[in-house]
Amino acid sequence: MEKKSKIKRIAVLTSGGDAPGMNAAIRAVVRCGIEAGLEVYGIYNGYLGMYEGKIERMTRKSVSEKLDRGGTFLGTARLPEFKNEEVRLAAIENLTEYGIQGLVAIGGDGTYRGALSLSKMGIKVVGIPGTIDNDIAGTDFTIGFDTAVNTAVDAVDKLRDTSSSHHRCSVVEVMGRNCGDIAVWTGLAVGAEVVISKETGYNEEEVLSIIRKASLVKKHAIVIVAENLVDINELAKTITENTQFAARATVLGHIQRGGSPTARDRVLASLMGVKAVDELINGASGVCICHRGGKIVSLPIEEALASTDERILEKYEAFKKLF
Ligand code: ADP
Repeated sequence: MEKKSKIKRIAVLTSGGDAPGMNAAIRAVVRCGIEAGLEVYGIYNGYLGMYEGKIERMTRKSVSEKLDRGGTFLGTARLPEFKNEEVRLAAIENLTEYGIQGLVAIGGDGTYRGALSLSKMGIKVVGIPGTIDNDIAGTDFTIGFDTAVNTAVDAVDKLRDTSSSHHRCSVVEVMGRNCGDIAVWTGLAVGAEVVISKETGYNEEEVLSIIRKASLVKKHAIVIVAENLVDINELAKTITENTQFAARATVLGHIQRGGSPTARDRVLASLMGVKAVDELINGASGVCICHRGGKIVSLPIEEALASTDERILEKYEAFKKLF
């Protein structure tokens, strides 16, 4: 039989970029922890709050009416200095003062790297993937991704209505600096003509040729671009000058991070929160919770952070066949 640790107090924080569904994950950690007989603490503003000692005991009521809310009620922050050992030591001292032995860190790859460093310093840490970008390779889905894609799809559907009326091409920038999942999923869901992401690459002539072909048979065209790859205003100008379409550029920006989480994100977050508490109770550390092939599992953080390219390219191949 597996030896259970005698962990009594755990804490939960959200860090890095916020994502819809983070509140659902916090709620699950708090309620499940209390149900298991643990004391559960909330740390405000991520690793910054851990360093500043912004720590508060959570009750079942602390997480009431949070499930449907976007953002994170614990707040989030960025603290680049957390890479320094002395900053982490000071943060760990605050945990020790409260007798906190285990931590659930909800965030993206940066948050995971912080979690890994903490686990190497003796704190038991379990990560939960809370990021809209879906850029953690070990999990099929991160919390917030589904909501962000639905937000992007909704916005592009609206742009399509007006593009179609005006015989235009919409060039839309979506989030996903290091991972093109939002772009490719949105492209598939809206029937875009072109998707440009880090993984798909960018060839101006190829894009223009596709748009020219589309202009012969369609009233509108849609180009989805992952952020920071090309200047979309320049691209819209090039399309206007070299095809039958007048193009307009739209940056969706932070609206993709907001809004009430979809049912899918709420369920994913809840299941992951429960699993994270189980992992801490079982003495795990340096692991993160993943959704793999329909199952909620845990993986060593290093393994979960490996490259995501293959997963995206598979969907991009499907996208090209549908155009
Ligand atoms: P995300 O978790 O969304 O990827 P960031 O990359 O901004 O967001 O990371 C969130 C926080 O995690 C950073 O502000 C920093 O406090 C911490 N962090 C990131 N990388 C490391 C690292 N290599 N070592 C320790 N802490 C880190």
